[in-house]
Amino acid sequence: MIRNSSKYGKKLAWLVIGLLLALSLAACGDNTNTAAPATHTTSATTAATAPANKILIMATTTQLGDFARNIGGNRVQVVQILRPDDDPHDYDPTAADSKNAAAAKVIFKNGLGVDDWMDKIIANSGSKAPVIDISEGIKLRAGNGKEDKHGDPHIWHSTANAKIMVAAIAKALIQVDPDGKDYYQGQLASYHKQLDDLKTQINQLFAPVPVEKRKLVTNHEAFGYFTDEFQITVVGSIIPSLSDAAQPTPQEINELIKNIKENNVKVIFTETTINSKVAEQVAQAAGVKIFSNLYGDALGAPGSDGDTYLKMQLSNAKNMAAGFNQ
Ligand SMILES: [Zn+2]
Repeated sequence: MIRNSSKYGKKLAWLVIGLLLALSLAACGDNTNTAAPATHTTSATTAATAPANKILIMATTTQLGDFARNIGGNRVQVVQILRPDDDPHDYDPTAADSKNAAAAKVIFKNGLGVDDWMDKIIANSGSKAPVIDISEGIKLRAGNGKEDKHGDPHIWHSTANAKIMVAAIAKALIQVDPDGKDYYQGQLASYHKQLDDLKTQINQLFAPVPVEKRKLVTNHEAFGYFTDEFQITVVGSIIPSLSDAAQPTPQEINELIKNIKENNVKVIFTETTINSKVAEQVAQAAGVKIFSNLYGDALGAPGSDGDTYLKMQLSNAKNMAAGFNQ
């Protein structure tokens, strides 16, 4: 899998540079970005075997893997396909994925186009395990009509949606492992409580930030459910799409720079899974700062402040609140 390069390529960078020269915009931005783009970590290349008495379950994304571990607890072995910082919009299945799917008792996918590659894995594996599309039952934000005909796939960014998603996981686990019913219900209640606490903490972080200062510009449109939940206005994104596979036109970038200035936006936020090069150029042109490393489409590596869903959401909220207050 190639990331951080092909889709976001040199051609675009040159377009932007040309645009900047044409506009005679001085490089006056206070560019504080120091973080290197996330490097690709290894994918699951070996087939997993569940320890005795454990239910082998499979989850596509890092968020779903974390949810499944929290709800399944010590009764399950979770095989999570994507590694931390992997871009779910771009994944090439491996042979081990098919072996794992064949052995799994239940499979969880996000749906809505984020992990359609799972369908290929399931077909190749001959798996007969139930496949739970976790997006069912979620009230969707509209798609942008280009890549996301089903609706905005970044459903996990709302804590309310997360509660529905983990409930669906608990329900499926109870079906494949009825003896664990009381256990899974207990795990679910406990995690629901943690999600409630998370929402309270995030609200407390944003409370000192006036709503009119909560203006978000990111690399791609990953945070719609989060911004809806916490009264944040999306001014625009570098890649004007719900998928990061698209590329902005010079006109779109020009429009974004204008919007950033008109809305008095102080910071552009970049995401861990996406190259920040064009964002940096736009930030320079608009004279605003870059805040790196929102967790958009993937959890972070173990030990990072985004290595669980709960930590990832809190980290994003802290970064955004600090950026809005610049
Ligand atoms: Zn995305």
